[in-house]
Amino acid sequence: MRLSAFSTPGRFWRGNLHTHSNLSDGALPPEEVCRRYRAEGYDFMALTDHFVGCFGYPVADTVPFRAEGFTTLIGAELHSGPMSNGELWHILAVGLPPDFAPGNAPDFRVQPGMETGPEIAARAVAAGAFVAIAHPQWSGLTLADARSLTAAHAVEVYNHGCAMGCDRPDGFAIADLLLTEGRDLSLIATDDAHFSEPDHFGGWVMVKATENTPEALLAALKSGQFYSSQGPELRDVVVEGNRVIVESSAVVSVIVQGAGTGAKAVHGQSMTRAEVPLERLGASHWLRVTVIDAAGRRAWSNPVRR
Ligand SMILES: [Zn+2]
Ligand SMILES: [Zn+2]
Repeated sequence: MRLSAFSTPGRFWRGNLHTHSNLSDGALPPEEVCRRYRAEGYDFMALTDHFVGCFGYPVADTVPFRAEGFTTLIGAELHSGPMSNGELWHILAVGLPPDFAPGNAPDFRVQPGMETGPEIAARAVAAGAFVAIAHPQWSGLTLADARSLTAAHAVEVYNHGCAMGCDRPDGFAIADLLLTEGRDLSLIATDDAHFSEPDHFGGWVMVKATENTPEALLAALKSGQFYSSQGPELRDVVVEGNRVIVESSAVVSVIVQGAGTGAKAVHGQSMTRAEVPLERLGASHWLRVTVIDAAGRRAWSNPVRR
């Protein structure tokens, strides 16, 4: 069984799904943010400004900044709540209509009777968006919170801004628990760039599609046809009997993870192909792959069901 990102037709397009501009609390105007991502070799990006009243509920119009070889997805970071810690949810929505209706979030404070996180996430999905639970570790998200966001397609498992700003980049702990409960989720790495600190060009998705258009990218995101990276390339992941065969750019570690303590690593030098035995993963009904290069940069597959 080959992961769908490596069996469906097309090629990989590199994109950042989580970015801010000065339409909310980012440092740069939308045009300059798009210019920088394009200059850095990205094929696409989504500007996802904070969808709250004090910024005018922005859904940034990045259509004018599309160019040959570079496209944009329309999105926003949605806030409503509260989570169980009393703070507002942060929910990434990519593929929103430009007229997505505001809720009742005048600022980042909880208001009585405001739309819940699960409600605004479901509304975004109904409007056509790919929705991810943003930066679970930074948010202080509990498993019960995450479980309640039933509409989400994905968990943000690496957030580069949270890595640089507070050393809380992780979403894998909560994603693995949800996968073990049977949730069908994909995993995204993002920048969450504000350009106010070194929070950009550190985590991205590689989306498999036949063309670099918003429609094709969005469909591929929703169906999990992508992997995430900080640098390494994943080229193939095949589950064959009781082993996983991984092909990649040169890496020093290939690790397969599953439910509970189930995991197995293969270490080496400049490996471009590795066979990882699955005995240590027991009866886990899902597994995923991490590769790590000599500089410590990682790439992560989406989970696959066994
Ligand atoms: Zn956020
Ligand atoms: Zn953000």
